[in-house]
Amino acid sequence: MKIHKNELLQLHGNKMPIDREVALHLKGRHPQIIDAGPARFAGEAYTTSGLYMVEGHVAGELTMECARCLEPFTYAYRETIKETFVDEKAAEIEIDEEMEIHPLENDQLDLQPHLEGAVLLSVPSVLICKDDCKGICPECGTNRNRKSCGCVVERIDPRLAVLGELFGKQDK
Ligand SMILES: [Zn+2]
Ligand SMILES: [Zn+2]
Repeated sequence: MKIHKNELLQLHGNKMPIDREVALHLKGRHPQIIDAGPARFAGEAYTTSGLYMVEGHVAGELTMECARCLEPFTYAYRETIKETFVDEKAAEIEIDEEMEIHPLENDQLDLQPHLEGAVLLSVPSVLICKDDCKGICPECGTNRNRKSCGCVVERIDPRLAVLGELFGKQDK
């Protein structure tokens, strides 16, 4: 999603309302994202004291693979965006890294990386489909959310497991 600076300059300080569908490229940028549906950005853009401002929120849905049961589920997000841009020429002189002011590119405000970054930052590193997801049975592979398989999964003390391995090897 890009906005040309002239769209804002001709408003003479008035705010331009924005409500647009945006295609975010998020597939493969988090190990659990299977698909990214369309997102919507709603907000406004304007110029003030030589700066170009965009604020609003981006909302949409991702199809995620549950880390525990591996079934797909929908993850909805809604993130607040506030980005400041400045002309490329001005950028060389006054940009202070800490202020997080982005230079325009070809006189355009490129919101794409900021929208994608905000959504990716909002996704937890490990996500499960529901708090009480029972996951997959390590014995028989049944999705235990759908049915209980009746397997008794023993929790073996890891120190004993090492011994068990040693004995197993001796048997062969
Ligand atoms: Zn799950
Ligand atoms: Zn089982």
